[in-house]
Amino acid sequence: MGNKEKHTANGSFIKLVKLCKTYYMGEHIVEALKDVDLIINHGEMLAVMGPSGSGKSTLMNILGCLDRPTSGHYYLSGEDVATFTDNQFARIRNGTAGFVFQSFNLLARTPAVENVALPLLYAGVRGNVRKKALEALEMVGLGDRWHHKPNELSGGQMQRVAIARAIVNDPEVIFADEPTGNLDTKSGDEILDIFQQLNSKGKAVIIVTHDPEISARCPRILRFRDGRIVSDERKSE
Ligand code: ADP
Ligand code: MG
Repeated sequence: MGNKEKHTANGSFIKLVKLCKTYYMGEHIVEALKDVDLIINHGEMLAVMGPSGSGKSTLMNILGCLDRPTSGHYYLSGEDVATFTDNQFARIRNGTAGFVFQSFNLLARTPAVENVALPLLYAGVRGNVRKKALEALEMVGLGDRWHHKPNELSGGQMQRVAIARAIVNDPEVIFADEPTGNLDTKSGDEILDIFQQLNSKGKAVIIVTHDPEISARCPRILRFRDGRIVSDERKSE
């Protein structure tokens, strides 16, 4: 209780304290994250950069409650994630957080509107499922493509469907792991326009990217190397 109060006091959204993630594969030990200290406020937008294997996806998986840390602490809105039950974990994944991946992860033979509606069904939402999915598609500029299947859409459009799916439950934060990695420059720019728009409406947006043009559009850039944060840069406007 005292602990919880201490960490809600400063109002940070995400707070990591000496967080470590170690993978044990037989004799082989991989320290994917080492003593990571990090604070992310409500409504922040940041880019996460660093070489392949530096721990970026591991970080995203832990922040999004897809995985648990090996040691250290993760406080989400002041609550120690280590105390969460599997049900609470699922509630974060289905409600607080939205996820966007490099490879879109859409069901190829399922119309866009049904892809977008899936998180609503997982979250147990009953009313207005189709209406909410259509609204999310409209928000990403695909209101007229709701009946198209992903294999009838361009890469940029597929990623917009994936963003609609990520926001349909009105999450507080969007985790995007190399969302423009499979897209041409123009489509990538459009995806960033959408993330900036969502951020201006108060959503936190955390984007893993290798692309300096993408990170240049983020007010904060975090750089990883060998599982550690090596720089944390904030642009002064
Ligand atoms: P990045 O996203 O920056 O490329 P990752 O977070 O995917 O890096 O990986 C960090 C390190 O952890 C790498 O050495 C990778 O091989 C290792 N790793 C990631 N996931 C697993 C896993 N499930 N099992 C074992 N090792 C893993
Ligand atoms: Mg990765």
